[in-house]
Amino acid sequence: MSHVFYRKYRPKTFREVSGQEFIVKVLQEAVHREMISHAYLLAGPRGTGKTTLARILAKALNCLKPKQGNPCGLCENCTSIEKGFFVDVVEMDAASHRGIDEIRQIKEAVEFQPMHSQYKIYIIDEAHMLTKEACNALLKILEEPPRYVVFILATTEPEKMIPTVLSRVQRFDFKKLTFKEVRQKLTRIIKEESLTIPDDALTHICYLAEGCLRDAEMMLDQVAHIDLTEHNIQTIFNRPSTVKMMQLLHAIATRNPSTSLAELTEFEVSSIPPVHFLRDLLSLARKVTLLKLHKDAPAILSKEMSKEDIATLTLLAEQFELNHLTTLIQNLIESRKNIYYSPIPFLPIELAIIQSLS
Ligand SMILES: [Zn+2]
Repeated sequence: MSHVFYRKYRPKTFREVSGQEFIVKVLQEAVHREMISHAYLLAGPRGTGKTTLARILAKALNCLKPKQGNPCGLCENCTSIEKGFFVDVVEMDAASHRGIDEIRQIKEAVEFQPMHSQYKIYIIDEAHMLTKEACNALLKILEEPPRYVVFILATTEPEKMIPTVLSRVQRFDFKKLTFKEVRQKLTRIIKEESLTIPDDALTHICYLAEGCLRDAEMMLDQVAHIDLTEHNIQTIFNRPSTVKMMQLLHAIATRNPSTSLAELTEFEVSSIPPVHFLRDLLSLARKVTLLKLHKDAPAILSKEMSKEDIATLTLLAEQFELNHLTTLIQNLIESRKNIYYSPIPFLPIELAIIQSLS
């Protein structure tokens, strides 16, 4: 899979980062005021900018001409860190280098002052993958770090890290990006690349990305030069089209068996994995419930959906009786466990829908 846009548009300074405003502000301010912690933990879902921000922080700390805590991006140090061959910034992937030996090497190396900059920085990605011994060795360094050493640990699973390490780090929890933030970033790329992407297709990509900017950029990459509609996105990413699923929900809400089955068959013949289909349908049905019961639902959903989709779902919320909706959701959840045993994988879903039409 191509990574062109993800690499090309990867933020190089604090102000280019999408979302995570609070974290960006605190880190930039800390650099500006030279109130540096010896260890940071960047925790949160994949594709939300942890490693990107770790690199920006490394640049900001070692930049020769920082502006208000922001790296200049142009000096010798910034450009070498960007290219990944700056001797005082070491990146390590704990998923493939998990052991005590790697941490021992770091322990020996931190005894020596940085060669070209103020700080010697260790970025450890997937830090929860370190073995217990490696963690204990790391803890030893964190207990008495030389003043010029900074550790930046990134992890998707902070709960797997040992409490003694957690107690030594300044922790930042990254959020999934909102629908709007993902859309803004993709819109910028589309503009700069002069791409033609229909609005509904863009909306659908942002929806599928589920707050993971990296996924969104990779999807955009994949479809950048294809004649695109919301409908063929379904085929390209092997995911059900939101518009088609809303049509199915409308047929169920109005208790129309023939249209319901016809709509469902379309998903089946397009060879979308039934588990993906079920998850997306349940997620939509849940949103309809939310719109039916919660007055702030449109505002909550606007973080991940377009206004047009929310308007259609609101209409569905009016069409559905609450009991009908909860029965449908229950039946669909129930069908999940039968998918793998059924000789026809879509059949349990079909039955769940038929049962909720009566
Ligand atoms: Zn610089």
